[in-house]
Amino acid sequence: MSKTKYIFVTGGVTSSLGKGIIAASLAKLLQAQNFRVTIQKFDPYINVDPGTLNPYEHGECYVTEDGAETDLDLGHYERFLNIATSQANNVTTGRVYQSVIEKERRGEFLGKTVQVIPHITNEIKARMRLLGESGDYDIVITEIGGTVGDIESLPYIESVRQLIWDLGKENTIVIHLTLIPYLAAAAELKTKPTQHSVKTLMESGIVADIIVCRTEHELTEELREKIALFCNVKREAVIQSIDVETIYDVPLKMLEEGLDKAVLNRLQLKSDQAPDLTQWNIFLNQFKNPTNQIKIGLVGKYVELQDSYKSILESLIHAGAINETQIEVVSLHSEHIDEKNVEAQLQSLDGLIVAPGFGDRGIEGKITAIAHARTHDIPFLGICLGMQMAVIEYSRNVVQLPDANSTEMEPDCSSPVIDLMESQKSVVNKGGTMRLGAWDCQLEEHSLVKTIYGSKTISERHRHRYEFNNDFMATVFDDTLQVVGVNPDTGLVEIIENKKHPWFVGVQFHPEYKSTVANPHPLFVAFAKAALTHALDRKR
Ligand code: GLN
Repeated sequence: MSKTKYIFVTGGVTSSLGKGIIAASLAKLLQAQNFRVTIQKFDPYINVDPGTLNPYEHGECYVTEDGAETDLDLGHYERFLNIATSQANNVTTGRVYQSVIEKERRGEFLGKTVQVIPHITNEIKARMRLLGESGDYDIVITEIGGTVGDIESLPYIESVRQLIWDLGKENTIVIHLTLIPYLAAAAELKTKPTQHSVKTLMESGIVADIIVCRTEHELTEELREKIALFCNVKREAVIQSIDVETIYDVPLKMLEEGLDKAVLNRLQLKSDQAPDLTQWNIFLNQFKNPTNQIKIGLVGKYVELQDSYKSILESLIHAGAINETQIEVVSLHSEHIDEKNVEAQLQSLDGLIVAPGFGDRGIEGKITAIAHARTHDIPFLGICLGMQMAVIEYSRNVVQLPDANSTEMEPDCSSPVIDLMESQKSVVNKGGTMRLGAWDCQLEEHSLVKTIYGSKTISERHRHRYEFNNDFMATVFDDTLQVVGVNPDTGLVEIIENKKHPWFVGVQFHPEYKSTVANPHPLFVAFAKAALTHALDRKR
């Protein structure tokens, strides 16, 4: 008999309903009652991981401690739960097929015809059980990407059906998230799409135990009863998920609706305490009652799509809350910044972030924005490509290396201050081959970052192929721009600081992947504080 309980979250009617947030909110409520919970996401697309996907396709690529390039929902899981996820927490169809095909090549199927059922479904089921079998968790929540009825999700739905039998009904539960659309012309909320999507699930042999209804308007009691009746669930199992001001409200809404109770009852689990959300509520209270307001510019080339820089935006929310400051993020498209308009675009900003990125589109705009921030004392945080561009800007404009560049942008450049890492030179495949995951960084004793982190050795997550070219160390760095963090094993430049600027930091890593509600990232917290100081100074 399995001790771990498994919760499956499926989606119906449309995509983008926020399954990840519902899963993370439920996990938060269970964690707050002392259950050991983790969440995993199964994505139906054929890419082995989202690392090769353009952010316009699938939003930000999130990176775990162990260097997995994953779906951005894992970011929500970590931010809500404050526990690390890993490669095991995100599985795609591509990865499933890749391992089944590798087994076939090794002859592991002993001459059998390899088929979706049972070979692909067995692989999916094994992966769905993997974290549960570690013994580290009481409850594993599995989010199935896509929408029920999609051709590509079928093997996952079939695997869930089989797993319910393998593990027993008392150990498994299916939560179905649907949309209750509002027809303005009829002034009515409609349940029919939900009825159909529950029916589609049933055709695959799965009975939803709980229906979570996304809605823009309150569901009446009558409507809830109707959904229960038509969808074959108890009235308590119809949970409303109404639009809220912030995703961080969702756990409280789910608590009000009794989602955790419905789940625990159905799984025959007893909770020994009411959910302790003290820390969560303190955060929400700070977030909702700011005493100050600042504007932070975010320069990137994917700014049209909110999800492209998800973790940076969330990190700013955490940092804003702790500083009791409302942060308005002003998106600046790097391709639209030039010498002529930079002053106008940046003049109302209290801080500037230059985002990570790849390729040469928009980089001159980034360099121009950085030059302005450097010479106008605007607090600046350069992340990954943002740090590399800060080095190029300084090299060109201060060190007088007019042709300084990154070989990513200009392979034959004569002053390659940013160059491909040695370990990358023999790499041919694009997928999963960058310098990924957590690496140590040693901080300079007398540096701003050492004070910010409060420790000499830190560990941060990475995702890059290029680095500062140490041949230029003596040329580029001086009393003003300094290297204040390096990788202790390779000497790779991890952090730069401008000593003559109130707050100018560039990092080769991605601090945004590690900021959580319980542990806002110190760099973002310090950056927001510096921006606030800048804002208050300007008002004087
Ligand atoms: N394109 C740069 C590199 O590969 C920066 C990557 C990033 O910003 N994540 O090094």
